Amino acid sequence: VTTVDEGPVELGKIVALIREFVKARDWEQFHRPTSLAMSASIELGELLELFQWKSDDEIVQALHESGYKEAVGSEIADVLIYLLRLCDVTGVDITEALLRKMKKNEEKYPVKDWEGRAPSKLNRRQTQ
Ligand SMILES: [Mg+2]
Repeated sequence: VTTVDEGPVELGKIVALIREFVKARDWEQFHRPTSLAMSASIELGELLELFQWKSDDEIVQALHESGYKEAVGSEIADVLIYLLRLCDVTGVDITEALLRKMKKNEEKYPVKDWEGRAPSKLNRRQTQ
């Protein structure tokens, strides 16, 4: 199965879809956490390659071309597929992990202190 029903899809369903794809090919034996993390990083490199040597303006321009946008989407998907698979083999509930992390980020970067400021340690507003 390589398709899901139309409409919003839960991340858990995507994880299950990837699991099914892997199992059908007997690839579970290769999916050690380190290999999956490396693979995600390699795919991120492929994404960066699409931006390499392009200015911000050139990237914005290129995104209007469907082939380029599709290529960007394809590499983002590759990264996420490996990360979701990594969640599956390590038992991480990605929905729970994302929500927990966003709650932490809300606390770490209150809007009153960080609105319009890049999230760098160097930009932390001085408090007396
Ligand atoms: Mg790729």
